[in-house]
Amino acid sequence: MPNRLASKQLTQYDVIVIGAGPAGYSSAIRCAQLGLKTACVDNWRNKKGQRTLGGVHLNSGCVASITLLESAKLFHALNHEIGKHGIHAENISADIPAMIQHKDDIIDALGHKISDIFAHHHIDSIHASGRLLNARQIEITPLDGTAQSVLNAKHIILATGSSPIHLPYAKVDNEFILDSFAALNLTSLPKKLAIIGAGVNGLELASIWSRLGAETILLEAQETFLSLPDQQISREAYRIYSEQGLDMRLGARVISAKKGKSKVIVEYQDQDGTHTLRVDKLIVASGRKPNTENLAAAEANLLLDENGYIHVDENCRTNLPGVYAIGDLNLLGPMLAHKGIEEGVFVAEHCAGQRSTINYDTLPSVIYTEPEIAWVGQTEQALRTMGVPIKVGVFPLNATARAQAICKTEGLIKIIAHAETDALLGVHIIGAQASELIAEAVLAMEFSASSEDLARTIHAHPTLSEGFHEAALAFKKMTMHLTL
Ligand code: NAD
Repeated sequence: MPNRLASKQLTQYDVIVIGAGPAGYSSAIRCAQLGLKTACVDNWRNKKGQRTLGGVHLNSGCVASITLLESAKLFHALNHEIGKHGIHAENISADIPAMIQHKDDIIDALGHKISDIFAHHHIDSIHASGRLLNARQIEITPLDGTAQSVLNAKHIILATGSSPIHLPYAKVDNEFILDSFAALNLTSLPKKLAIIGAGVNGLELASIWSRLGAETILLEAQETFLSLPDQQISREAYRIYSEQGLDMRLGARVISAKKGKSKVIVEYQDQDGTHTLRVDKLIVASGRKPNTENLAAAEANLLLDENGYIHVDENCRTNLPGVYAIGDLNLLGPMLAHKGIEEGVFVAEHCAGQRSTINYDTLPSVIYTEPEIAWVGQTEQALRTMGVPIKVGVFPLNATARAQAICKTEGLIKIIAHAETDALLGVHIIGAQASELIAEAVLAMEFSASSEDLARTIHAHPTLSEGFHEAALAFKKMTMHLTL
């Protein structure tokens, strides 16, 4: 992929975006759609050392992860689930390198698609590291070794994303002790695998490798399992994952990990003392940090907090006029690709002089495990702590004909509405296709729907989405396919 800058010799832009992950590429595309002369600077290289767009999310995050999870789910279903349908399959085997290649082909194709869209919109795509010099200037260090240069822009959008936090006592070598990128590029199945952290990332990786047959142990320092989602959903998730064979050790803080002769020796502490585990591979999934190191020259005076996040106001504006920080770089919401995409579009529209808005209250969250978890709005515990009067409707997915037909009966849909106004305040799902189902709840909340609106909306039968209808009917004990 040629550096478009080199061929055009442009140095003055309306907007320069640093970072071509979901936040950055969306922002660059919307800027260009709105007629702004736009450049996007990105330094990602794929496994072959080639340039590719899409950032962590595409290349070693959710897209890579769900692609492998789909393969793992198929393998698991063929081995353990399709017998229920009267289908028998024998000699099923998993070709891990072929699975990884399939994932790489998909992310390569999607990366090329972003390049094509950039080209279509005449966005100058620059393969380089960008560094903010001041509110109007970016220093460009090309990865091909050519000379540094300085580009000028009226607006600068920082979108460099985040990277895994490395633990000093579990040094990643990406052979035995792996970060999340290496964990999505294993060439063979580890017999025994440990993961530090039972957060979103740890659980998603565990869902892949345990389904392919690795004995998987999650070591989580916190006593509480998954503290972000509604706690009823977290309890249900813990029960389901445990039944699936995941070994989740809570209150287990890893204190050291070292490579032995052929195994990794992991030491962790819990309330019973210190324990030692010997595993074939260890994945470190202990959180992420914003990529702000070397992003701005000291003289630029870009304001960061003590954890490296960039200070922004409610419009993603940094302390420097005309400079914005979006996606994982700010603390306006969780580290989610679609939050970054929305901020990218929002900021681009502001650069073009439009007054758009962004509604963080209806931002959906998804955990791509099997079954999936998805939610929008407030949890029951948060609302009760705030003293908001609420009512709760819950419908188990096993009471829908569709869940029975597809043999995915685990999980539930939970709706929380205001006890007096009936306004929807939160929707929480664990179950098959939760990531798709949540869109209905997001739309309902975006349009300020009440639970009665949902109860009076016709849902196709038989579908999983009927669970919404039924959960809304559950408020008045009026469910059709279950007695309450
Ligand atoms: P996380 O902070 O959600 O989880 C990391 C966990 O590691 C924590 O629970 C922490 O207690 C534990 N931990 C840290 N040190 C430990 C130690 N020494 N021993 C045992 N446990 C230890 O981080 P994550 O899962 O890496 O995710 C980071 C961010 O990326 C989050 O904001 C997450 O939402 C986002 N993300 C989102 C998705 C998605 O949208 N599906 C996927 C992956 C990550």
